[in-house]
Amino acid sequence: METISERYAAIRKMIEVACEKSGRDASQIKLIAVSKNFPAEDIQAVYDLGQRRFGENRAQEMAAKYPLLPQDIVWHFIGRLQRNKVKYIIDKASMIHSVDNLDLAKEISRQAMMHQIRMPILLQVNLEQETTKAGFQEEELKTALTAIAALPNLQIRGLMTIGPFHDDPEDARPLFRRMKALLDQAAQWQIPGTAMDQLSMGMSHDFGVAIEEGATFIRVGSSIFGYRIY
Ligand SMILES: *Cc1c(COP(=O)(O)O)cnc(C)c1O
Repeated sequence: METISERYAAIRKMIEVACEKSGRDASQIKLIAVSKNFPAEDIQAVYDLGQRRFGENRAQEMAAKYPLLPQDIVWHFIGRLQRNKVKYIIDKASMIHSVDNLDLAKEISRQAMMHQIRMPILLQVNLEQETTKAGFQEEELKTALTAIAALPNLQIRGLMTIGPFHDDPEDARPLFRRMKALLDQAAQWQIPGTAMDQLSMGMSHDFGVAIEEGATFIRVGSSIFGYRIY
């Protein structure tokens, strides 16, 4: 059985390899250690290895762990978010990756205004039109971006996707490539209030391919923390 420290070192190495393969600078890749379902002690162990960015997918879980851990952790909210839960994370998350409807964006905007902050967000996209997954369809994106960009106290930084699981990570490549093309297209729209330069994609089984195709944030859970017990 590998230790957390060995697994973390292996992930770091795999990031470097993917960067070398694709001619990218490893400093452009921001690893989010997805700590959902793992206790604060495990997060502390990964923090002690130097990791500062952590991701959670449930609002109350993030809010509960937050006071138990060092203040310089940079928290990313990556899961489906109900409007009535925004209040739990508005002052804790440094970015919300999973904005998938206008009403949610309005609530984040309203809460951000109350807290006098500007919240960076990503719009979640569902290119494969998987009915079990959240996210805007490709053809909805421009309208959604325009409407959300007009809301105060938000900054749209890019796109996020949760791809389907494939046994062979190579099978994820076409989707990641389409996401990068969509991000570049959205950047060209130059919608005021947007800075479309971040792409959140790739998880434990396919983050290497995601890096090769342009991810700036990768979200890695089980490869660092081990298997989650629900
Ligand atoms: C759990 C989760 C991850 C990490 O998944 P692993 O396969 O454990 O790496 C990434 N993104 C989201 C949105 C998640 O919910």
